[in-house]
Amino acid sequence: MRCDVLAVGTELLLGQIVDTNSSWIGEQLAAAGIDSYLHIQVGDNQARMVGLLRYLLEQADAVIVCGGLGPTQDDITREAIAEVMGTSLERREDLTDAIRELFLSLGRPMPASNLRQADVPKGGEAIPNPKGTAPGLLCPVGDKVIYAVPGVPHEMQHMVESAVVPHLLEKSGQRGTILSRSLKTWGSSESGLSERIASRVDTQTNPTIAFLARGIEGLVVRITAKAGTLEEAEALIGAEERILRDELGDLIFGVDDETMESVVSDLLRQKGWTLGLAESLTGGLVGSRISDAPGSSEIFKGSIVSYATEVKRSVLGVTAEQVVSAECAIQMAEGARRVLDADVGLAVTGVAGPTEQEGQPVGTVFFGLALPGHEPEALRANLPGDRLRIRQFSTISLLNMARLRLLGRPGRGML
Ligand code: ATP
Ligand code: MG
Repeated sequence: MRCDVLAVGTELLLGQIVDTNSSWIGEQLAAAGIDSYLHIQVGDNQARMVGLLRYLLEQADAVIVCGGLGPTQDDITREAIAEVMGTSLERREDLTDAIRELFLSLGRPMPASNLRQADVPKGGEAIPNPKGTAPGLLCPVGDKVIYAVPGVPHEMQHMVESAVVPHLLEKSGQRGTILSRSLKTWGSSESGLSERIASRVDTQTNPTIAFLARGIEGLVVRITAKAGTLEEAEALIGAEERILRDELGDLIFGVDDETMESVVSDLLRQKGWTLGLAESLTGGLVGSRISDAPGSSEIFKGSIVSYATEVKRSVLGVTAEQVVSAECAIQMAEGARRVLDADVGLAVTGVAGPTEQEGQPVGTVFFGLALPGHEPEALRANLPGDRLRIRQFSTISLLNMARLRLLGRPGRGML
């Protein structure tokens, strides 16, 4: 089964938006074991869209068109598909009602142009869109099929997951279930990680294992299983996860929707401990991430953004002469714990650049950790990248070190 992708929108060609939809769709197709050989971008031009759809359908079993389903005059995906099918559009009453109701429930007047979104090529079907106004389309062309999904990423994603991939699988005769689990890792390079699990990646066909680089959020190892039932798929994934966990150990910080901050927050909650932060170069980023985690109010006391040296001294009681130093990081962590009356104090100080400080090069960072039952400690890192990256790296590294300590591990995380 081969399914190609046509991304529609002049904005894409002008570089005003990046075509993240095609890469996301590519990922889903690969996970489902569906080949995808061509991804093309085209402007809002009916003749070119029609030409490309015909071209792709000569080779592929199916094409997913994303974008151009909106209510405005330049949204012409419906018309282009009808032309390829050699038919015309018909306005569907059930869809006009749904669109009217949606506007009513939002308390907004409905522009008449929105009714264009109830137009479906004769012989085609609408795919429901619970997340927006534009329904998707499922249009047979001979024994092949064109799917149209909206350009808005979360609407597109919902439709591809709930309607397009299941339909493709059914069409290819692969009945059953596809299940994925993402193991999120932090602390290893991509090459390091792939070396460690190369044998699994190369030899596994069900489940399959894929690597996804998520930048500052680390590397994800995704396990995808196909099976007749959900239980069988879960068993396949569970067995592979155990093998990967044996190999990767503490590099794995979470699964699926878990984030570094939600994991740290959960560990603190399990211990009944509260957290106080003292941040210098991260300027509040660590506190912001911790407060992103649902339920963090139970464990998070606050963050003191002690950017200026005099604040480190007057608020946190830092006496260390050098503020980019292990001694300062420890005093900041202890100060945060004391001032915020928390069980755990974490701190970060360093040089984000662009210029060096106290003779220390850009990227020098000290992390301070003060946990119950542990001598306060400081860890030093030399982080790469520009100012933004150093600040983001520092944030996730500090949280990862806290995670390892809360698990009772002596490791240095990514340092
Ligand atoms: P709408 O009903 O919102 O008009 P649509 O189906 O007509 O939806 P577009 O107008 O093509 O979709 O795009 C709507 C928005 O979705 C764009 O402004 C852009 O932010 C985003 N978008 C569109 N195509 C892509 C793409 N290929 N990759 C990432 N984002 C996209
Ligand atoms: Mg549009």
